[in-house]
Parts: sequence; C-alpha cells; structure tokens
Amino acid sequence: MNCDHPTVLTLALPTPLFRHFEYLAPADYTPAQNDALIPGIRVEVPFGRQTLVGILISKSHTASYPIEKLKPAYQALDAKPVIHGDILALCQFAAEYYQHPLGEVMMAALPQKLRASDGALPQTAYWQLTTEGKGLNSENFKRSPKQQTAWEVLLHSAPLAETALTAKQVDKSALKQLQKKNLAETFLADAQALPASQQVLNETPRTLNNEQQHALDTIRFHKFGCYLLEGITGSGKTEVYLQAIARVLQAGQQALVLVPEIGLTPQTVARFEERFAVPITQLHSNVAKGARLENWHSAFSGQARIVIGTRLAVFAPLPELGIIIVDEEHDLSFKQQEGLRYSARDLAIVRAKKNNIPLLLGSATPSLESLHNALQQRYHHLRLTQRAANAATPALQLLDMRKQPQHAGIAQASMDAISATLERGEQALVFINRRGFAPSLICQSCGWSAACKYCDARMTLHNSPRKLHCHHCGAMAYPPSQCPSCMNPALSALGQGTERAEETLQAAFNQHTVIRVDQDSMQRKNAMAELTQQLLEGQPCLLVGTQMLAKGHHFPNVTLVVIVDTDQGLLSGDFRGIERMGQQVIQVAGRAGRAEKPGTVIIQSYRPDHPLLTQLITEGYHNFAKSILGERASCRMPPYNHMALLRAESKRADNAKALLTKAAQIARQLQPPSPECSYLGPIPAFMERRNDRFRYQLQLQFSHRQTRTQLLQQLVEALNKEALSKRVRWSIDVDPQDM
Ligand code: ADP
Ligand code: ZN
Ligand code: ZN
Repeated sequence: MNCDHPTVLTLALPTPLFRHFEYLAPADYTPAQNDALIPGIRVEVPFGRQTLVGILISKSHTASYPIEKLKPAYQALDAKPVIHGDILALCQFAAEYYQHPLGEVMMAALPQKLRASDGALPQTAYWQLTTEGKGLNSENFKRSPKQQTAWEVLLHSAPLAETALTAKQVDKSALKQLQKKNLAETFLADAQALPASQQVLNETPRTLNNEQQHALDTIRFHKFGCYLLEGITGSGKTEVYLQAIARVLQAGQQALVLVPEIGLTPQTVARFEERFAVPITQLHSNVAKGARLENWHSAFSGQARIVIGTRLAVFAPLPELGIIIVDEEHDLSFKQQEGLRYSARDLAIVRAKKNNIPLLLGSATPSLESLHNALQQRYHHLRLTQRAANAATPALQLLDMRKQPQHAGIAQASMDAISATLERGEQALVFINRRGFAPSLICQSCGWSAACKYCDARMTLHNSPRKLHCHHCGAMAYPPSQCPSCMNPALSALGQGTERAEETLQAAFNQHTVIRVDQDSMQRKNAMAELTQQLLEGQPCLLVGTQMLAKGHHFPNVTLVVIVDTDQGLLSGDFRGIERMGQQVIQVAGRAGRAEKPGTVIIQSYRPDHPLLTQLITEGYHNFAKSILGERASCRMPPYNHMALLRAESKRADNAKALLTKAAQIARQLQPPSPECSYLGPIPAFMERRNDRFRYQLQLQFSHRQTRTQLLQQLVEALNKEALSKRVRWSIDVDPQDM
C-alpha cells in the first residue's frame, strides 16, 4: 500500500445520523483490490461495537478527518455495484426530501438479504442442450409434448436463463427430465439480459377506441413527461398501459408498474402474462422471502422486462427502464406510513424525470394533487369517459336512510334490490368498511362502553371467536359477561361490521351463498384467488366486504352494489376525509355491471342532501374533485401549499408536548411565521393515546417546497441536539396523507 496516499472510502451507513462516514480501504487490500472498490458496492465496516454494511459513495485520497484516526473497513462485499447511478440519485433525493438518513434510505432500497454481510448477488441457472440433445429430432419426443417444447426452445437459442424459459411456457420438470437423460445441462452464471429482438407479444392486442388511441398517441416515449390518465372504472386504462408497455418493450426497454397494496391480484398479473411473452417479475411483501432477492435480481440484471410491484418497487433497479406506470395513483398504500415516509407515486415522478422517460398515472378517482397538476397543465391530462367493452356505466342512487326501515344498518329498499338481483340469477356486493361484528359494546343502562386499555378508542366486538379487538393496537380481550360498572347483565352490540352484516344477510337470503371478504376471512394464502374463481363461475351470490373488494377486481356478474355507510367520510376530522369518501364510493361503485348486464349502485346516507355528496352522484368524481380543490384553494391547504408534520409520541404526554413546543420555538426563530410559512401546534393527534403512548403533532405549512426542505433540515439538526429528543419517539412526515 502507498502510505502517502491511502485510499479513503466515504460510506453511507444505516444509522440514524445524518452524515457520511469515512474509512480506510481494508488494510490487507492490494492496489488491484483497491481499484475494484467502486461506488455503489457494499462494504462491511466496524461501527462502535457493531459491524455494519454500508454503501460506498465515493473514494479519494483525502479525508475530512485526520487520516490517522480513520479505521480500515473490513471488506468489500460485491464485485460490482448493487446500487447504480439512477437509484443512488433517487435515494439521495428521498433522503433530502423526506429528511431521512441516506444510509437508511439505501438499505431500504435493497432487498433484505443484501442488507446483511452474508447476502450476495445470486447467480442465474442457465440451460442448454448437450451434444447428444442437439443430435436428436422431434420424433424422439412424440410421447412427451412438454419435453418436446423444452427441447425445441433450447435447440433454437443460446443458453437460456430459467426465468426466460418459464416465460416461454417451458415446464421446469421437463427440463429436469431432459437433464436426467443427459440431453440438456444447466450451469450457473451472472445473469445476462436477453437480446432485444425477441418476441414481445403473446396475443393480438385489442383495437383501441378513440379515447384510448388518443391517450396512447399523446405519450412521448424516450422523453420525460407526466401523463394523468383519468378514466372511469372499466374504461380500459389497463389496455392503454399494456399497449404503452408493448412499445417500450419493442424498443428493447423495461417497464415498471406500481400497483396498490391489495390491487396486485392474481387477475392483474394474469392479464400481463397473457399479453406479453417476456419475463415478468413481481416485487411486493407477499413474495416469499427467498424469492424476493431472485426477483429483484432479475430486474437488476435486465432479465425481467416488466416489473410489477407495490410501493417498494419504485426502488427496483431496471437498467433499461423505459416507462413507469402507477395504477390507482390516488391509493393511500403508495405512501409509507413509518420509517422512511415516502410516497412511491411522487418518487416515481422524480425517477421518471431523472431517467428522462414517460410516467403514466392512472385512476378513476385521481388524487387532488395529481388532478391539480393536470389542470395546471403541468401534466398531460388524458381522459377516458366511456366504458370500454359493451358495459354501461352503473346508475348511482342515493338512499335517504332517515326514511327507511332497517336490518342491522341495511335499508329495506337495499334488501329488496338484493333480493331482486339474486332472483335474476346475478350477484350483489354489500360494502361496509368495518370488519368485526359491531364497532362497540355498550351498557344501555349506565352508558359504559368497552374501551381499549391502551388507546383512546372503543374495542370492536368480533363474533367468531367472540372477542373484543382493538383495531388500532391489536389488543384483545374477552367480552365481560355483565357491565363492569353497574352489573347489568345485558350488554348491547352497537353499530355494524362485516360479520353482523353477513349474519343478517345470510338469515334473510338463506337459499343463497353469502361470502364475507375482509382481512379476517381472507387470511389464507389463496383465499382471494379461490373467491375470484367462484365468482367468475357466475352463480348468484352475495358478497359482504370491506375495501378489499374495492380494488382492481373484475367480477362480471356483479350487477348491484350497496354502500352501507358514506357518512363517516362526510363527518371525518381529517381534511382529506371527503376526498377519500368520494374515491371509495366511485371505486366500489365501479365493481357493478362490468360486463354486458347494467349495474346499479345504492348509496345509503343519513345526509343525502350534503352538497358534495349530491354533486358526486349527479356530476361524477371529476366535478366533485374540482369543488374540493376550490375549498382547498380558499383555505390554502394542500395541494395549494406544502405541509409537513412533526410527530412526537411518548409514554409521558408532557415530554412529547415539550419537545414539540421546543421545535415550534426553533422553527419560529429559523423562519418567522408569514403568509409563506405557518406553524400550528403542538396539537393532539387524531387519536391522542394509542398503544399506551401519547401522541402530538406540530403542523408546518409552506408556500414553497424549497423553504420547507431547508427549514426541516435545520430543524432536524437542532432537535437532534436537544436532550429530550432522545427520550421521545419523533418523526417527520413530509406531505402527510393522514393527520
Ligand atoms: P380499467 O383499467 O379502466 O378499469 P380495463 O382496462 O380493465 O379498465 O377494461 C375493462 C374491460 O374492457 C376489460 O374487460 C377489457 O378487456 C375491456 N376492454 C378494454 N379496452 C377495450 C377495447 N378497446 N375494446 C374492447 N374491450 C376493451
Ligand atoms: Zn352499566
Ligand atoms: Zn388499542
């Protein structure tokens, strides 16, 4: 080693500290090994008494610390970078924008296995024919068509990766059979991207209607642009995605498709697989742990040409990325609500811009943020106003609950409509966004109600098994046999959840099947897939479920939707409550009449004359959303200004409040309140006590994003110096989605 010029490595490490760390190259490394230390690889280093894995950011011969104080790193873990330029830039952006340490952001961007020292980039299994195998002809496989397919595919190509073979419908067991007979062999190698000239489509795409064609023609490829595809449910947005993706694939590029957490149904994936002949990989938290690294790696190596995933996939490495699509862009699950509180949709925009490629945001009910950008012409606004196929748009009916006899929250008129639907041999869906039997258990003689010990919340009664659950902290308890306060033996279950609705409906329609769909009933792995299959068979039945039913599903035989309760959203304390209510109603309504038979949607409400609710129903989501935008503009709420929340929670309320009071003081000094910048708080969070912690927040609003970023950066730095900040759990939420 040249002692005059030691090699200094600057690393990002997963620690809560907002800075880089310097180390010397490992002491025993030769100059050649030092040269192999390139930015983007993982390096293992000592850190206090721990060993950490970090990412090499840069290499130089000078340090900002006295060089003799630097420790040598233990070892490099990769021969080639695992984080490339565009992902590094995306992480740097996210770290700054969301006020999160870069090392933690980068580790979050990597699959779990690579965050540890013993994880390594996997190699890929390739297959080729042996000399014996090449010498045969198809006559030899007459009795095993699967082996014949495998043999033919291998005969006409260079060594093929297993993923590519699967995409060509080659059966893995057939390959194993060929191997046994010494006709094919397999070997491990670094994955290579496939040649660009391969076949892209499996099936002929549909002919687009005029609106779809216009949308597709507007997209400029090989160039940054943000396109909001606002299309009613069933208008054929997915068909536009598929055809835009086809163009990108034909140009030899990859596509990234982000979908909501529960929108990634087997139906969605199947549609992509039917259309495309290229390898497709999935990235989401339900992918088995072992397969996650493999899937990530097939994107990384360029083998997978399409990546479909939930929010975390926004960080997926795609060396030839050509388009990003965010389906149901309004969906809350794109925002991570803990740790790095990023919005995958917003990061997708940043990524598309850095990569100079188009970004397509699709929704029937766009978020007010995206709609605002489209109306301001920052985005291209593409609209699909007709249902594709032959389906008519469903008729929405508002039902005044004040005049209706009821059965556990379901109006008589709704019951009649359900009955008529089932008699016609069709399916009906009852939407009730609360799981469990009843949201509260009360004593009607003294007013006692079952409350959670740890939260400011009532416990929900569940029936099978009969228990009280807190939906906020997970606490459970047996229901008392009598009122703990006045000994009244008769406690009443008040309000309705999915279990009670199921019970009521099953009793009323006892010749028909009633299926409950919620988190509790769908826990089994393939439950949703089995349900979908059952519904597609088309027998008359009745579905009762939560918003799990609202997304992405295509149930052609459902012709009636009943929305049990819309009033929660109208009365919500969160300023986004109304927007969410509107989105939910339209999304659920969109499940009705998706095929030839027309659909009806009954919306039950005790406030049927609420102006926004009536506007939603008579004029549709677009005008409804514009009205809310008007309200937001007049009180300068997002998207007309930029918000951040400083959240604090502690077992001792005083500590959390004191930290926020201090924060408000610091903020005021850094940036005095003005029309450009305002502070509100500390105020109690929506649920002041949760999981036995008291929660408060400071709300900060800015006219300019840049001012916000600067202030937050200084504020975090100052807060980190406060002793109290070590005793209180606190976090910053930039562009918060729930209050
Ligand atoms: P969205 O994503 O907007 O809800 P989809 O893309 O799922 O809508 O389309 C709804 C239905 O219409 C699907 O069954 C789809 O196959 C069909 N469809 C879409 N585009 C066309 C088209 N141009 N011609 C015929 N059918 C179409
Ligand atoms: Zn009582
Ligand atoms: Zn609780």
